[in-house]
Amino acid sequence: MNTVVSEGTVVVSARGEQRMRSGHPWIYRADVTDVDAAGGDIVEVIGPRRRRLGHALFSDRSQIPLRMLVRGDTPFAASVLRDRLERAIQFRAALHLDATAYRLVNGEADLLPSLVIDRYESYLVVQALSQGMDKLLPALTGWLAEIVSPAGILARNDPKVRALEGLEQTVDVLAGTVPNSVVVREGPIEYDVDLRRGQKTGLFLDQRENREAAARYARGRLLDCFSYHGGFALRLACHCDTAEAIDISADAVAHIQSNATANRVTNLTAREANVFDELRRLEKANERYDTIVLDPPAFAKNKSSVPSAIAGYKEINLRALRLLTPGGYLVTCSCSYNVNEEMFAAILHEAAVDSHTPIAIVEKRMQGRDHPVLVGVPETHYLKCFIVRRIE
Ligand code: SAH
Repeated sequence: MNTVVSEGTVVVSARGEQRMRSGHPWIYRADVTDVDAAGGDIVEVIGPRRRRLGHALFSDRSQIPLRMLVRGDTPFAASVLRDRLERAIQFRAALHLDATAYRLVNGEADLLPSLVIDRYESYLVVQALSQGMDKLLPALTGWLAEIVSPAGILARNDPKVRALEGLEQTVDVLAGTVPNSVVVREGPIEYDVDLRRGQKTGLFLDQRENREAAARYARGRLLDCFSYHGGFALRLACHCDTAEAIDISADAVAHIQSNATANRVTNLTAREANVFDELRRLEKANERYDTIVLDPPAFAKNKSSVPSAIAGYKEINLRALRLLTPGGYLVTCSCSYNVNEEMFAAILHEAAVDSHTPIAIVEKRMQGRDHPVLVGVPETHYLKCFIVRRIE
């Protein structure tokens, strides 16, 4: 398929050129000085001294008008994108993941900026998160049919970031057929996934290896907070005497229960509650747990919400530490990019001091290997997962 050509030109400032040379694929609006292109074009990026610096996806609405595809003064060839797609898919196959659901393309870290592709069994779920990627969807669909031959491709183009690009939020079948529910396996656990309505593209695939790591420590009485469809609780229950899962969503609790039944996990109970209230109640009732998981949604969606996010992370970690038995384990996560690993460690330190709990970090982890981090692009390292032991 050779429908992908470069159209238009965009001129960037000296600062834009320097940013590009430092390896970051995003060029911000303030660093664009002249545009002769339409939204969604693949454009030539021209430097302040009129040299061609490379090619990029152009967006006429976003704060990030340029996402670099290739650098250097050579013509653009669509085959570059197809090759990257194929290499991204081959890399995941080479990981030999013990799962039938995983990420095939992780945007910037596969040099395919603003593109996400997840595999669920024989179905693919695609998200095009910029005008340029959106325009490439027909070409991508054709390449995916050639490389993967999926039974169906679903576009989950409903994330809010699409609105910032002036794009519609839609869910469409791009190829084949996509059933209402798909059964996938992650290690020993099977999940029934609703690809059209589940969070993210259906499941939180980025936590797969952290669930596996946590299983090495889990024991005794388990509390899984912010459980969604029971990812941690289901995987850890077989190592524990009892498992309790909490989520604020009734729909999530129903999924945990049906997943527990389908997997014959009999020592797991799920309840609908606000974790902030529930941790307080459990503390008052003098309850104790040997293993606690905290996997909240991103509290800091942007820079301005960082202070309140820090307060939220501190509160749940402090309360969880108070509920933890000596020798017990806390698996604590943050998926806010705006709270980086150093800040998260500092929050944990404060929670330990304020709760008078001596703790040791046993593992510092991030998102799974199928969601790699592009060096030089801190935005691609969003998930932190610390496994912590209460020493006494
Ligand atoms: N641990 C899960 C993913 C968690 S996603 C996994 O491994 O798959 C975050 C979950 O937190 C969502 O299901 C959301 O419904 C829930 N949630 C958000 N705020 C909450 C609150 N205050 N109390 C309880 N659950 C909450």
